[in-house]
Amino acid sequence: MIEAINDCFHTELARDDSVLVMGEDVGRSGGVFRATAGLQERFGVDRCVDTPLAEAGMLGAAVGLCMAGWRPICEMQYDAFAYPCLDQLITHVGRYHWRTGGGMEFPLVVRMPYGGGVRAPELHDDSPEAYYVHTPGIKVAIPSTPADAKGLLAAAIREVKEKIGLCEVCFNLTDETRCRICQDPRRDEALICVVEEPSDVIPMERTHEYHGVYHVLGGALSPIDGIDPEDLKIAELFVRVADPGSAVDVREVVLATNPTTTGEATALHIAEELRARAPAVKVTRLASGLPVGSDLEYADEVTLGKAFAGRRAV
Ligand SMILES: [Zn+2]
Repeated sequence: MIEAINDCFHTELARDDSVLVMGEDVGRSGGVFRATAGLQERFGVDRCVDTPLAEAGMLGAAVGLCMAGWRPICEMQYDAFAYPCLDQLITHVGRYHWRTGGGMEFPLVVRMPYGGGVRAPELHDDSPEAYYVHTPGIKVAIPSTPADAKGLLAAAIREVKEKIGLCEVCFNLTDETRCRICQDPRRDEALICVVEEPSDVIPMERTHEYHGVYHVLGGALSPIDGIDPEDLKIAELFVRVADPGSAVDVREVVLATNPTTTGEATALHIAEELRARAPAVKVTRLASGLPVGSDLEYADEVTLGKAFAGRRAV
């Protein structure tokens, strides 16, 4: 069993640079059961990390690592040692995907042994998997053979990454062919909000003001960095908006690229092209204004100038 798990770790860390193992004694000593033997020598201290005796800190750090694009595997020495990190597991790992409107994934694997006839003292023999089974957003796998252990562990480590792709309509992140927003019949398909990145969809959704659909460009135009229109999903936007064969009669395109040099250049390019290709479609840009709760005294002159130009009747 231990050889199968150790072999799986070696294979998965070699296969994907973003996979790392963290836990108490996993590095220098290779784990209390030797499941992580040889990993630190082979992959270094950054990918096989000895943590302090602090399970809550370990899982909390792993949540942050997930947000930064890593795929951590947390090794608990025994299942019952995981009680201090139940909050992170139940409240964060299991729910943040939904709390971020599907914008973030938590490809976290927690491996914890229990039973096995070790006859360890109290605090070593609990088998609280029933709690985890009832936790939304968490999957539980309990292997009983070496082959199951290796296969299930590898599947858990790989799962989220291989499942996530881009929505075929709007290029938002999704684990289906169309994202949940594009599938929602209550959304107004004739209103398209153009954003740079999938993460920009989240703040727009949080406003609860917007009920249209999105188009995610995958970045902003930046010739100096070699990012040209063909590197972004701009041609696909023109097909959605201006193709006479398109299933939807688009009414308005809201340009919500960032108020930066590259974001403004991207908005300008798209606006000019759309004016030529689809003159009947209204093209708008998010207004620039003063942050809520701030003072005029602290506003920069560009923001204040734009806020003045964009003033409206009250
Ligand atoms: Zn979509």
